[in-house]
Amino acid sequence: MNTLTLEKKTTEHDTGSETDDLAPIRDMVSACIQCGTCTGSCPNAFAMDKTPRQLWRMVLMGDAAAIFNSKTFTLCSACYYCTLRCPRGLALTDAMSALKQIAARDNLGRYRHSTLFYKKFIESVRRHGRVREMEFMTLYFSALKSPWVPFKFAPLGMKLMQKGKVSLQLPSKGTAPLEKLFKKVAELEMSDG
Ligand code: SF4
Ligand code: SF4
Repeated sequence: MNTLTLEKKTTEHDTGSETDDLAPIRDMVSACIQCGTCTGSCPNAFAMDKTPRQLWRMVLMGDAAAIFNSKTFTLCSACYYCTLRCPRGLALTDAMSALKQIAARDNLGRYRHSTLFYKKFIESVRRHGRVREMEFMTLYFSALKSPWVPFKFAPLGMKLMQKGKVSLQLPSKGTAPLEKLFKKVAELEMSDG
C-alpha cells in the first residue's frame, strides 16, 4: 500500500469508523495511569518505535493515525509480562492483539509482512498441530511474492540447518490434529460478534 492509501486508511480510522474500531481497545486501557511498568517489562520494547506506555496513551487520545503508523503492536510477541505486571490489571496483551486484528482486517500495507507472517504460521500449525519451520517459511516467502526476500534469510537458514534446528520439509496437507479446536475458536469469535 502506498503512503497516500495508508493516509486515507488512517484518516478513515480518524473519522466515524475509527470510533467503533478503537472504542473497545480504549475501554481496555481506560484505567491506565501511565506508570510505564508495561514498557519496563516488555522484552521487545527496545525494538519498538513507540513504547507500550506511549501506545496506550495514543489509544486513550484516539490518535489512530499515530497508532497505525507505528509498528509497536506488531512487535508484541504475546509474552504476557505487561499484563501480569500492570498495576491496574489491564488486559494489555489482548489490546495489542486487537490492534493486530484491525491492521489485518483492513489489510494495511504497512503491516502486510507481519500479517502474512502470522497467517502462514497459523496455517502450518493448523495443518500439523505444531509449526514446521521450513514449511512455514516456504509458505511465507511464497505469499510475499518477492523473489529477493528468501535470499536475505538464506545464510541464517543454512546456519540453522547445519545446527539441526530446522530440517527440509516441503509443504504438505498434514493431518489437521487441532481442527476441532480451530473450529471451536472460530465459533466463539463469531458468537462474540
Ligand atoms: S503498566 Fe498498566 S497502568 Fe502502567 S502504563 Fe502500562 S498500561 Fe498503564
Ligand atoms: S505481551 Fe507484548 S507488549 Fe506485553 S510485554 Fe509481552 S511482548 Fe511486550
